[in-house]
Amino acid sequence: MGTLVRITVYCTTPDEARAAFRDGFDRIRELDDALSDYKPESELRQITTRALGRPVRVSEDLFRVLQASQRLAEETGGAFDVTEGPVVRLWREARKTGHAPNDEALADAGARSGFEKLHLDAGARTVMVDDAGMALDVGAIGKGYAASEALGSIGKRGIRSALVAVSGDLAFSNAPPGQSGWRIQIHSEDEAALGVPSKVELTNRAVSTSGSSEQHLDVDGRRYSHVIDPVSRMGLVSDITVTVVAPHGLEADGLDTAASVLGAERGLALIESHRDASGLIVERTHSATTALASTRFRKLLEFKH
Ligand code: AMP
Ligand code: MG
Repeated sequence: MGTLVRITVYCTTPDEARAAFRDGFDRIRELDDALSDYKPESELRQITTRALGRPVRVSEDLFRVLQASQRLAEETGGAFDVTEGPVVRLWREARKTGHAPNDEALADAGARSGFEKLHLDAGARTVMVDDAGMALDVGAIGKGYAASEALGSIGKRGIRSALVAVSGDLAFSNAPPGQSGWRIQIHSEDEAALGVPSKVELTNRAVSTSGSSEQHLDVDGRRYSHVIDPVSRMGLVSDITVTVVAPHGLEADGLDTAASVLGAERGLALIESHRDASGLIVERTHSATTALASTRFRKLLEFKH
């Protein structure tokens, strides 16, 4: 998935640790083969040609990720949309060249995108796409999914305290020995003025963060995020960072990106509407930095430092 994965385990012997790492990374490799946008031979890359105009059965992993994605697309009116692959690729190229994509290329890529062109059948576990030239990109949701799934594989071995970090997407089980939770930094210390503690202490959760500051393109004094708005086909220009906590990374990772595109207020409402999720949205403008915490996120912040 074009990123770095780090696994931490607490156990009693080096052999146990090595076996746990093997299990975790085996699961990551399996998911990379299914979900990577960077590997031409991945199931995800192949499916848009194989399933053109006809339903094709896919792996359980790919189906789960696409099903969660389509639900989010419907909930957000297409603000979250994994079929924007052609548009996302143009912006990825733009970050390499330093030039924003031109209107014509964006219009062409946009015409090959749209979640209503992707059809799933849960009973048969099949996928079908309507248009040639479509491309799926699950970069907004697959890393969180992978983190929680790798953690699950490690847990099967009986290891009770572990952390998997797929770049910024974290999944962890019970607290490290002698501690009451994993301490997760949710924003930088220098933003303490926000009135929100910079760390939360959690167990058995997934935490994902989506931020425009991570990867971006600067042109003519504007900063375009790697997250795109499917309506304008442009990288987001608002400076927004969304952190979501949920039982599984499939939910946390999808929601952080979806809320970024929707913007602070609608993004917060989306997070509130997911019963098991909670989130923090930090937005910076030239004059102020504001933080919005969901109801359940405020409860998480009540831990003892
Ligand atoms: P994240 O860091 O979780 O916010 O994911 C960002 C990645 O999601 C980008 O690098 C793209 O691959 C993909 N992406 C960008 N915009 C969207 C969007 N509107 N809906 C779904 N995926 C997107
Ligand atoms: Mg995400």
